[in-house]
Amino acid sequence: EFVELYRETTELVKAVFGTKQDILLLPSGGTAALEAAAVNTVNAGDDVVVITVGAFGDYFVSICEKYGFNVHKLAKQWGQACTAEELRTFLQPLQHIKAVFITYNETSTGILNPIAALAQVVREESDALVIVDGVSCIGGAPAEMDAWGIDILVTGSQKAMMLPPGLSLVSVSDRAWKVIEENTMPSYYLNLLSYRDWAHKGMTPNTPTITLIYGLREVCKLIEEEGGFAHTVARHELMKNMVRSAMTALHIELLTTDEFASPTITAIMAPKGIALNAFLHHLKQHYHLDFAGGLGPLQGEIFRFGHMGYCFPSDILQAVSLMEAALQDFAYDFEPGAGVSAAHKVFLAAQANTITSP
Ligand code: PLP
Repeated sequence: EFVELYRETTELVKAVFGTKQDILLLPSGGTAALEAAAVNTVNAGDDVVVITVGAFGDYFVSICEKYGFNVHKLAKQWGQACTAEELRTFLQPLQHIKAVFITYNETSTGILNPIAALAQVVREESDALVIVDGVSCIGGAPAEMDAWGIDILVTGSQKAMMLPPGLSLVSVSDRAWKVIEENTMPSYYLNLLSYRDWAHKGMTPNTPTITLIYGLREVCKLIEEEGGFAHTVARHELMKNMVRSAMTALHIELLTTDEFASPTITAIMAPKGIALNAFLHHLKQHYHLDFAGGLGPLQGEIFRFGHMGYCFPSDILQAVSLMEAALQDFAYDFEPGAGVSAAHKVFLAAQANTITSP
């Protein structure tokens, strides 16, 4: 029974990754899958580039440093993306780079790095593998792993894939498999060759998180019911635009520019004159609306509005409406209803574009 479940589920997930490669299922959080991507492709002492635009890019740096890789860090200010030209300038003087590690969606800042363009630059400027952390966007953001030349794409179950935590998904290009076959760094539980061998038999090398794999199959069916993955991506884009226009209408600043704004999470500056922690606490206590605060240097400066996975335009309207109630409680100067109305206009415009009159 498991073989059937495994084969059916991993076939369905390929559309979400944009790949024809196998999808490997690790019984782990996203961090273990990032670690697997690193330890299977690079040996201690090898040169790697890590692009970091926030807390989770720094995660990749820590993993690579722990394993003794020689890390060349391309760090951007939190709230900014890494552009293709910046990466090109960074890569050009470097030699023998084994891999470039990139966070697709930086959860701490709501930045979606231009991953297709970055992967292309890596191909043009080096022979390095392109290793991508898609933990907080795969399932809600476009992904064309094969067409964009991504060598390893990783995600976890608990974000846009709509499941509880405990399952991670990894896909590997042919080019990366060749590197992995020759890599000498030891690994056991995270050994991707062993996952590949077992995947060919429709199995995993150790006890799989079976309940989550049943869930994953259902998630893929939900995506099919929505009309296919392109529709799921469009819903995330719509939710992003609804949140952004609501905040603009309420004169609340956004951390990121529209160009690099994440479709799954929006980082929002503290409303002017309001003590952010008290505001977030009030929202949770009185309106049962829970926004995450900022991390690292952005602690106390921003809050983060998640709109990924099992989340719909109606949720956005409700959340903005409750946020307005809390703003009113804090005597914030705004026109009541302005945020909801702006979000609703974006919603209506999207319906007009997709639904023809009966
Ligand atoms: N990468 C990104 C972009 C994340 O958002 C997270 C978790 O929030 C991780 C990696 C780590 O994943 P996990 O907490 O499942 O180990």
